[in-house]
Amino acid sequence: MKNIIKFVVRNLPRSVLIKISLILRKPISLFYRGNNVQCPACNKSFRKFLPYGNKGETNRLCPNCLTLERHRLLWVYLEERTFFFTAKINVLHIAPEQPFLKKFRKLENINYVTADLYSPLADVKTDIRNMIFSDNTFDVILCNHVLEHIDEEQKALKELYRTLKTGGWAIIQVPIDYSLEKTYEDKTIVTKKEREKYFGQYDHLRVYGRDYPQRLRKAGFTVIEDNFIKSFTKKEIEIFRFDENEIIYICKKI
Ligand SMILES: [Zn+2]
Repeated sequence: MKNIIKFVVRNLPRSVLIKISLILRKPISLFYRGNNVQCPACNKSFRKFLPYGNKGETNRLCPNCLTLERHRLLWVYLEERTFFFTAKINVLHIAPEQPFLKKFRKLENINYVTADLYSPLADVKTDIRNMIFSDNTFDVILCNHVLEHIDEEQKALKELYRTLKTGGWAIIQVPIDYSLEKTYEDKTIVTKKEREKYFGQYDHLRVYGRDYPQRLRKAGFTVIEDNFIKSFTKKEIEIFRFDENEIIYICKKI
């Protein structure tokens, strides 16, 4: 069973994986029943999480609602540190993550708009570099693990800034290699194979380094680098399976 799961995770595209997981959610959850880990987004506990990623890294994906480390941390952040689940707000969610989509759509307090250039799941088809929304439209924007796929990153960031209301905030996360002082980018690396080799994934255009917040500031944002993860004990980090290095970047339009 373990090897079958590993094979499936490694070899199938994410969209297919999501469909399979949704269909097989109950038997898989039963197989993983236990109390070692807990998903704060669906409140279910398991023996461990499912493997996930290119190398089939173990203990990552919630068998019930498909959260990864970053989704679980963001969920708790939104619950504990923001008014996301209670205030009457306009929310734009770019490239909406599957584990959040259904849950956010059910929230009655938010006017929830999802946008993506390709995803059939999104309400609005729009290019993040040239969005159809008016200036100052949204109180909150969520745009996670998108920028690493976009060639004109500053254009996209300026659009997020433009459509955010003054006084609003955005959470714009990307994968970061904290061992890199500067973001590694090379526009001559164009093939899927080379991108996989140099950027870690076939459709990534760069590897972000510790200069990431400066890139957000360049687009106009006031950035708070929130070490929210430090508010958890080691035991809690193990139970929720967070990434203990993750920093949440709160991007404000002041
Ligand atoms: Zn879950």
